[in-house]
Amino acid sequence: MKITKLVVASHNDGKITEIKSLLSPLHIEVQSAKELRLADVEETGKTFEENAKIKAKALSLMCGLPCLADDSGLCIDALEGRPGVYSARYAPNRDFKTAMDMLLKEIKDSGSINRDAHFSCCLALACPNEKIKIYEGRVDGKIAEKPKGKNGFGYDPIFIPDGYEQTFAELSDEIKNQISHRRRALEQFIKELK
Ligand code: IMP
Repeated sequence: MKITKLVVASHNDGKITEIKSLLSPLHIEVQSAKELRLADVEETGKTFEENAKIKAKALSLMCGLPCLADDSGLCIDALEGRPGVYSARYAPNRDFKTAMDMLLKEIKDSGSINRDAHFSCCLALACPNEKIKIYEGRVDGKIAEKPKGKNGFGYDPIFIPDGYEQTFAELSDEIKNQISHRRRALEQFIKELK
């Protein structure tokens, strides 16, 4: 597969920065839907895959270029996988500090002592006139007792990846980018480009 120009179907600055940094060695011109001022696409799917496909297809039709869409979220075992595909919408007015406090309270109220959780990422690549391709990645870990750290975005301050004692928001960007769900999904995509 040969791609020289790619539009990343996201308006989330945290995700765009991570994806651009992970794709930087590939000499592909990467632009985001935000930079191109393309409209945000509504996520009407019930799974990460459905949403990623909807976003990639809609964006590719809008701009006529290969589009890579990411749909991702935090799945907490004690909450039966929530907030999952609703991770962004769970945060009132995109206030993730409040959202993390709400999740910690929900876990406490559930009475469960299980802190297991994972981040999932589904990437969909839509190229004009081609079938959509899917790449998936996940990172397992635990939910911290309280939010810690200032790096990253979203739910990073409450997620401690397996093998570490610090949250994603306490770990450096370099470490997060080596082990994240997005990195793992992008690795599958990059393999096909080589
Ligand atoms: P969406 O894929 O645009 O629906 O957004 C997914 C939401 O999941 C984001 O807004 C974040 O809240 C959360 N999320 C996804 N990936 C990460 C991550 O790497 N760190 C922290 N939060 C994330």
